[in-house]
Amino acid sequence: MGTVLLAAPRGFCAGVDRAIETVEQALLRWGPPVYVRNQIVHNTHVVRELASRGAVFVSTLENVPEGSTVVFSAHGVAPAVYAQAEARRLNIVDATCPLVAKVHQEVRRYARHGYEIALVGHAGHEEIEGTRGEAQDRVQVVGSPEEAARLEVQDESKVVWLSQTTLAVDDVADTVRSLRARLPLLQDPPGDDICYASQNRQDAIRAIAEKCDLLLVIGSANSSNSARLAEVALRAGAGAAYLIDDASYLEDGWFAGVETIGVTAGASAPESRVGELVTDLATRGYDHVEQVETTEERIHFSLPRKLDPKRLTPGAVEQVPDPDGQTSPSASAAPLRVEEGPDG
Ligand code: SF4
Repeated sequence: MGTVLLAAPRGFCAGVDRAIETVEQALLRWGPPVYVRNQIVHNTHVVRELASRGAVFVSTLENVPEGSTVVFSAHGVAPAVYAQAEARRLNIVDATCPLVAKVHQEVRRYARHGYEIALVGHAGHEEIEGTRGEAQDRVQVVGSPEEAARLEVQDESKVVWLSQTTLAVDDVADTVRSLRARLPLLQDPPGDDICYASQNRQDAIRAIAEKCDLLLVIGSANSSNSARLAEVALRAGAGAAYLIDDASYLEDGWFAGVETIGVTAGASAPESRVGELVTDLATRGYDHVEQVETTEERIHFSLPRKLDPKRLTPGAVEQVPDPDGQTSPSASAAPLRVEEGPDG
């Protein structure tokens, strides 16, 4: 008899919940088709389910008929994409996660104050492309400590680092250490950009990894936070770790000599797939299931204002310090860009 340790928290975060509900509500309100730029969240099951209900996923706005409804995904978009959508007179509904919107806002603020920005993250990832688009000429993407060591800037005294929201905490620390060795005057951001959901899921994995001969992460291959969970598991002592979309990806060879299996799910992976996996593992003899919870999550984000007109009165906007000590609005509680435009 084998054991399954279920990490908690796992699965959907508040930003993913909100993005999926945004598409569902848009379908109810305006009817299909509702166009969605890129995958609303990086999960094949979620995308397939919403497509079956009338969502049409497109990689470019040129494929969206003028005047249609378009939802921007949780990963966020660059201002140029906003402008393109407005030029096509699209009904824009922005499902950008508020925690991604917060990083966009930081980029705008630092760029406005003359800073260069070292954006720690993966070039080519949608979130990074959107964030970088806020100030193309001020942002350089830094993907590793090696890249950090080679970074060239115009003024070493005015550089700040920011990061993608879904990275592994240790990876960011390594890259920032290298950045600081290269640029001793490097400025820290006002707060941590790695989101609560990524941090909590990584902490939960660290709590069980050493006990696990095998650790299974439910999530799609293009999901950044899910991929990081498998890496964190290996670093924290798991015997082996695999990222799988669902139980159909299991391979018999993975189970030789395995007594304890850890299970988690990335922030974009549905809990139903975890349930199916646990059922499958029981048929293989792993029928003792324990949940190991490291923290309780109670975070919820309201829907975009277009779908929830009672929310986000102007006075509800939180204030955070500017680099020069002044204050400006924060998007930590809501995506301010929904109706304020890309540089709101
Ligand atoms: Fe937002 Fe983090 Fe969830 Fe991404 S993983 S949608 S940044 S809460």
